[in-house]
This record gives sequence, C-alpha cells and structure tokens, in this order.
Amino acid sequence: MENGPGHEYFVPEKWDHEADVVVVGFGAAGVAAAVTAHELGDEVLILEKAPEGQEGGNTRVAGQGYLNTSSAESAATYLTALCGPYTVPEKMIRVWADAMCRNNEWLSSVGGDPQEHQHPPEGIEFPDLPGSDCVHKFHDGPKYGYSLTWKRFESLVKERSIKILYETPGRELIQNRITREILGIHAEQDGKPITVKARKAVVLTCGGFENNQEMIRNYLPGMPYCYTSGSPYNEGDGITMAMGVGADLWHMNNFAGPSMALKVPEYPTTFSMQALHFSKVMAGGMIVVGPDGQRFADEKFKTRHGKVPMNGKWKPLATPTPMYLVFDQDMMSAGPLYDKNPSHGWNPVVDKYDWSEDNSAELAKGWIKSSDSLAGLAETVGLDPAALEACVTRWNGHCAAGEDADFGRKLMLQPLERARFYALELSPSMLNTQGGPRRNENSQVLQPNGDPIPRLYSAGELGSIYSYLYQGTGNIGECLGFGRIAGRNAVAETPWG
Ligand SMILES: Cc1cc2nc3c(=O)[nH]c(=O)nc-3n(C[C@H](O)[C@H](O)[C@H](O)COP(=O)(O)OP(=O)(O)OC[C@H]3O[C@@H](n4cnc5c(N)ncnc54)[C@H](O)[C@@H]3O)c2cc1C
Repeated sequence: MENGPGHEYFVPEKWDHEADVVVVGFGAAGVAAAVTAHELGDEVLILEKAPEGQEGGNTRVAGQGYLNTSSAESAATYLTALCGPYTVPEKMIRVWADAMCRNNEWLSSVGGDPQEHQHPPEGIEFPDLPGSDCVHKFHDGPKYGYSLTWKRFESLVKERSIKILYETPGRELIQNRITREILGIHAEQDGKPITVKARKAVVLTCGGFENNQEMIRNYLPGMPYCYTSGSPYNEGDGITMAMGVGADLWHMNNFAGPSMALKVPEYPTTFSMQALHFSKVMAGGMIVVGPDGQRFADEKFKTRHGKVPMNGKWKPLATPTPMYLVFDQDMMSAGPLYDKNPSHGWNPVVDKYDWSEDNSAELAKGWIKSSDSLAGLAETVGLDPAALEACVTRWNGHCAAGEDADFGRKLMLQPLERARFYALELSPSMLNTQGGPRRNENSQVLQPNGDPIPRLYSAGELGSIYSYLYQGTGNIGECLGFGRIAGRNAVAETPWG
C-alpha cells in the first residue's frame, strides 16, 4: 500500500519541501534522531521554530550534563524506583536502561568527546533508591558547562548534509485519516503556510509546554501559572500536533520544578535569585512569604528538581502565589541579588541581562519594591501589614534562638533588622515539563488504544519517560537514547510515495 489506500485525498496540491525523515525541533532529541537517520543514509530535514542562533531549545541553555549509566540492570532498577507508584511499562524501562548505557558509545561514534564530570554540581539525586550507583554524568569535551555540549550536538548536524529550516514552526500533521499514517506536516514560514512531505516518517522533538500557560493550568498540579528558565520557544506545539492526529498523552503532571524565581514582563524567562540557592550565602536577612504574609517553606532547602519530602514521600514544592522575597538593607547592600555568572538558563546564556552590581537599576525599574518600614512595604505589595510584621518578628526570634522552629532552615539564619526593607515578587519557575504524547519502546507515538500512529515518532522531553522523580542529566540522556531509536526506526519505514 505504498501509495494508498486513499492518500490522494489527504495530500496537499503541492509540497514545498520533502525528505525521507522530517524532524520537528532542533534540540538534543532532534540532533540524535537527525544524525542517526542521516548516518543510515536517509535524507533528513529539520524544522525549527526559533531563528538561527536561538535554536537548541532547553538543550542549549541546560547544565550540559547527560546520563550514561554504568549498568543496564541497575539503571532499570533505579528508573523503576524513580517512577514509584506512577509505573511505566517494563519494556520501556528496559529499552531506556539499555540506551542509557550507550550514550557515550554513540557520541564517540559520531565524532563527540564524552568526558565524565569531575566535580558534579549535583550528585546522585536519590542515592537511597536501589540501583542509584549506576548514575554517571557526562559532558562533551575538556571543558564543562555554558552551552559546550550543545555546541558539539549542533555541529554534528551542521557538518552533515542535513537541511535546517529556521523560523519554521511545525503547525499540524498531515494524516491519512483512513490509515492514520502521517504523510507530512503543515508548517509556517514568514507567516505563510508551507507543506513538508515526509516520505518515511515525522519525528516530533519540539520540547515541552513550559511556556503554554493554559496547558500549565490544565496539567501541572497546583499551578495557576509557572514560568521557565529554559527556551521561550517550547509552547507545547508537539502536544497540540500529536493530539490532532489522535495521540494519547502521558506524564502531563510531571515537571522539573517548581523553584521560586523572578519573572518580569520585559523578559520571557525567569531570573534565579542567589539568596534562594540552596548553598549560596548572602549577608543580611531574608524570608519568602505567601499571599497571607506568612512563610511556608525552608527557603534554602535543596529540592530534587522541585520535589520536597512530605510524610516520607516526594511531592512538588508548594508555591502559594503571589510569593515575595522580603529582605533588609544589609542584603540589598551585599551585592547583586541575581547570580551574574550562572552557567545555564536562557537569560544568562541567550538574553544576557546585565544586572546592576548594587541592584539599583532593578529598584528603579520597579522589579524590587522598597519602604522604610515593614508595614509600608506590605502595603506597597498588597500584603497585610500586621501579618508581615508578625512573621518577621517570629523569624527574627528563630534567628536569635539559632533554630528555625517552623521549617528547619539551616542556612542564612539572619534576622531582618536594618531598614530600608525590600520585596521582590517571586513566581513558580521550572526547567522543563515531562509530559506529552505517549510513546512506546520503538519511539512510536501511540493512540489511546495502544496502537502506534503509523510513521509518527517522538523523543526528548515531549512525552518523556519520567513519570515521577527525576535524576539530573536524565533528560538529555533520554533525548539521545530515544532520539537514536526514533531515527533508526524512521529509516526502516518504507516510503509511502
Ligand atoms: C536551565 C536548564 C538546565 C538544565 N540542565 C540539564 C542538564 O544538565 N541535563 C539534563 O539532562 N537536562 C537538563 N535540563 C533539561 C533538558 O535541558 C531538556 O529536558 C532537554 O534538553 C530537552 O531536549 P529536547 O530536544 O527534548 O527539547 P529542546 O532542547 O527544548 O528542543 C526543542 C526544540 O524544538 C523547537 N520547537 C518548539 N516548537 C516547535 C515547532 N512547533 N516546530 C519546530 N520547532 C519547534 C524549539 O525552538 C527547540 O529548539 C535543563 C533544563 C533547563 C531549562
């Protein structure tokens, strides 16, 4: 049935572009799929929504680590434990575990240079879980951080004859509604619709829904809104496209977050505050309060990608919005509130906002509010003055006693004493979402009945395998593994026409 039955009813009058394999999204998963398919001899075309220079998605601005596990057996045990009650089919666990042991081998085979982190910024996330000793984190090349692994991934594509169409978002898959096969994709260029034929298959690798507030409200637990420190181009398009051709969804409620960060209208992504980093120490007093003017958490707790313990289990940090970082003059005078030299995040790596040394520019912009009294500050930001004063009095008491009797905070036990007082609104922030179209061990996108949608594959954080807990470097590790699987299986398809 190479040309039918009935494809003619669904194919557009003309195709603007065509290739054997069309990859939608140029991040780590897209790279692995495209390079694999190209190595196997197929013509590959990548559609990328961002302009040249801003492609790479979250991968470009990530911490640059990827997982390469030391044993498939332990990896399968560890992932099973990470999934906890949110189980994933055994076949998927096995394929993931096998692929995670082969990331270095693959990267070397296509010209990369895998190096193990010497001083990992974070170690094994859940060392108590069985199998955790399999975790090893790698990057590419002799230096670690700041887009360096991404630059290697990018060059793997650019040094091959793989065509990339920038500023060309995929919009809607073209499907034979009888056989359900995917024949190509409607995309957009310069605001005009174009059609792209996929002779063998389409691979969706266009990331998560970090910037789609409606999906966030619908799918993320307890989140009326949330922003990201990753790519602003990830707007859940892959989810919309996959749903349009009858895909099932999974893991929509799991995400790498939340943390608490500054989001301002002038920039699309969030700013991390030094004072809230789990290990950084600044002079001066600070607390975070919710809309009732009360603290709700240990502000310095090292969450596990946003998860905190509760009654012996892990759950997303509660973020009662709006939240405020409230601090005193000593902290305001202690240097930039924002970490000016972080190695990852869209703002530092791409937008590169230059935060003032003394925070004065951000005060002048209104990002930071101030008053000479706590009551005045509360009124300025819309909190109950008596509640905020009582909260600060209680916090200062904890500091005098040397123990945070409410939340057990251990770092920066400093009272808020010296006026002026300041407040900065915090929003829930995340790295990335994990949900998307359900896929199987062949990287095929599945219908709700479990049947694959013919000629449609996916990889990466768009429908990631992670259903509950997350091990750092697992996302890019998964992108490489399932990207390869998708690329290989796409090549194995017979052209439909
Ligand atoms: C700050 C930060 C640090 C992180 N650190 C790490 C880390 O060290 N290790 C790790 O494993 N994970 C890390 N993560 C998570 C990880 O970066 C991502 O989950 C992973 O890179 C996702 O890769 P991807 O290929 O699935 O998607 P992305 O890399 O996000 O790429 C998706 C691409 O698709 C494009 N796109 C979107 N919509 C469309 C469309 N309609 N048509 C065409 N193109 C489209 C986007 O522009 C983008 O280029 C981090 C995330 C962040 C934000």
